[in-house]
Amino acid sequence: MKAMVLYDREKPFRLEERPDPHPGPGEAVMRVRAAGVGLTLVNMRLGRMGGSLPRVMGHELAGEIVETGEGVTAISAGDRCAVYFYLTCGRCRWCRGGRETLCENFAGYVGGHRDGGFAEYVCLPAENFLPIPEGLSDEAAAVAADAVNTNWHCMRERARIGPDDAILLIGAGGGVGVHGVQVAKLFGARVIAADVSDEKLDLARRWGAEETINVRAVDDVAEEARRLTGGRGVDAAVDYVGHGETFTAAIDSLATSGRAVVIGVGTGEARFDPTVLVRTERIVTGSRHSTRAETIETMEMMARGAVEPVIGMRVPFTEVETIFDALKSETLLGRGALTYP
Ligand SMILES: [Zn+2]
Repeated sequence: MKAMVLYDREKPFRLEERPDPHPGPGEAVMRVRAAGVGLTLVNMRLGRMGGSLPRVMGHELAGEIVETGEGVTAISAGDRCAVYFYLTCGRCRWCRGGRETLCENFAGYVGGHRDGGFAEYVCLPAENFLPIPEGLSDEAAAVAADAVNTNWHCMRERARIGPDDAILLIGAGGGVGVHGVQVAKLFGARVIAADVSDEKLDLARRWGAEETINVRAVDDVAEEARRLTGGRGVDAAVDYVGHGETFTAAIDSLATSGRAVVIGVGTGEARFDPTVLVRTERIVTGSRHSTRAETIETMEMMARGAVEPVIGMRVPFTEVETIFDALKSETLLGRGALTYP
């Protein structure tokens, strides 16, 4: 099979011919039909999420199962599946309790700690393949499995938003953020989108944001969010960027009892005053990806058209480098997508 292999974190992927994988016990092999590409992969490529080289990256995947290993009964050849990103144990208290992204025996990420899908085939534990519902395209299923399900978990379980809420999304024009706008609208919230360019803010507005903040055009994002809510502040703020500075703005923008949730993995430390938390019962927390159940729910919602994939760029998987370039220059609008032969 053809595969794009990373040997050096500073150098381009190498297109290689590799033997087709065959599943061991408990595993399955999928022919990859679609992949999504976003900022997580930039972090992963730099080694910020661990893992070793050489590596075939790519975790936001969908395709068709071609072979299953010994003992696999839940899926079979011919099934269309999306890939679950995390390698979890299935046995610890968090896995059994339906919060498997907190797994005590976490074994890492597809495409970081184990070869992923920037290749024609991917071999993974059978539990990492989730059947795609009728009516959902491969590309939409791939995007569901990271760019959308992350928002479903965040909005429902962590930000806990409702129809009476105003929510600030920092990085709303990015690949995860623009789907966050749509998911927040499902809960009926009023969305204030913040991002670094007018192009990204236009995109967020097109998908439902009522108000926008260009972070490069204002002195203080939190103050602007406060102004847009009549001085009250927002009921929830989600930070897709995750720098100390952006998350501090998220916390400072909150109304009484507001929730600040960080999703992005950036650098630096956020600041907050503990006495303000006491006085206002603000909640400062994080949101970690999505469970399998939430991923299935996400695909079902998307199959009904409740959330649509927003693809800003589409290239053959052998040209994935061009999407990384667009991500680095902050010019990609929405998600990048890969096509396969
Ligand atoms: Zn576990």
